[in-house]
Amino acid sequence: MSIYLDNAATTKPCREAVKAIYDCLDSNYGNPSSLHHEGVRAQIAVDEVRKMIGRTIAADPECIYFTSGATESNNLAVLGSVGNGGKKKNRIVSTAVEHPSVDRALSRLEEKGFEVVRIAPDKNGNISHERIINAVDSNTALVSIMLVNNETGYIMPVRRAFYGIKKLYPGCLTHCDAVQGYMKIPFKVSELSADMVSLSGHKICGPKGIGALYVRKGIHIKPRTFGGGQEKGLRSGTENVPMIVGMGAAVKALSRDINERYSKAQELKAMFLKKISELENVTVNSSEDASPYIINISVPGIRSEIMLHFLEERGIYISSGSACSKGEKSSVLKSFGLCDELVDSALRISLGRETIGADLSALAEGIGDARKSLLKAK
Ligand code: PLP
Repeated sequence: MSIYLDNAATTKPCREAVKAIYDCLDSNYGNPSSLHHEGVRAQIAVDEVRKMIGRTIAADPECIYFTSGATESNNLAVLGSVGNGGKKKNRIVSTAVEHPSVDRALSRLEEKGFEVVRIAPDKNGNISHERIINAVDSNTALVSIMLVNNETGYIMPVRRAFYGIKKLYPGCLTHCDAVQGYMKIPFKVSELSADMVSLSGHKICGPKGIGALYVRKGIHIKPRTFGGGQEKGLRSGTENVPMIVGMGAAVKALSRDINERYSKAQELKAMFLKKISELENVTVNSSEDASPYIINISVPGIRSEIMLHFLEERGIYISSGSACSKGEKSSVLKSFGLCDELVDSALRISLGRETIGADLSALAEGIGDARKSLLKAK
């Protein structure tokens, strides 16, 4: 029996998604672009999911575009939205703790001469909406801020920041990478004042390799793939119908009890933090009001990888940072103000739909035992 606590990296697909994918592969294999019956059936299935995703974020389904995942959605939003049209604005505002799929896209724009302002958390680990708004000026083309940080669970003040920005600079585009918040923290695109929102299938008990980008009507984005003109020309390539259908099934299954799951995650987090507080010298890096689904802690003196392997021996799977960083030192945690010792020993515990108290008790016990045996061995 394994205890999987790495749900920010990816989630186990829910039964509903697996069944929907199988059924689709088995009996709805048409190409949505084909004009015959099988093509129309596939197109209907895709559009049903478009509607469903639209409903969950109160968006017009026509504004939902399917992509290969949030990496592509983020790239498309950042690289496709700036530098279009007449007056050239060349400033972009973001944060120092964005996912690499936003941050590296921003670096590409920097190479092309854009000025990118990356707001770092203050000494308390916060990024206030005022600081974001103050960084924006009339020359700002885009503001890109994530909803929930994938390493610490920090919830960004996206609503207040984007609202303030739109009031002052209605022409400034706003993008939100909502991957770690979708199906966990309910939001409407209008309440977020977001022109673009990125979503991913595999973080919400759906399949990998599928995602979506919401683009508000009237916003012009340049495509980055060219071909058959699918997704209204924004994202050419035959739609990944089975995975779209799988993502839709996951959205349907998870949207039923978002608030109940959130409360449960809060209880589990509180219970885990209490257990951890009984251990000596364990630092909690996530703030109290962070998303309860992501808990970042450090156990100084034990490097993350060593702890990960110790826990793995017991069938407990957590991570040291984001899955993409694969052992590299986290610049995000550094930006959140952690010293090298805390970054080197950081552990990310991310809860999922199936997480129960016993999983977190076993983890706390494992961390306690690791401290006893690994620190003694030094
Ligand atoms: N944005 C955030 C905040 C993420 O956590 C991730 C995945 O780790 C992504 C974007 C990329 O998503 P995908 O794996 O669908 O490309």
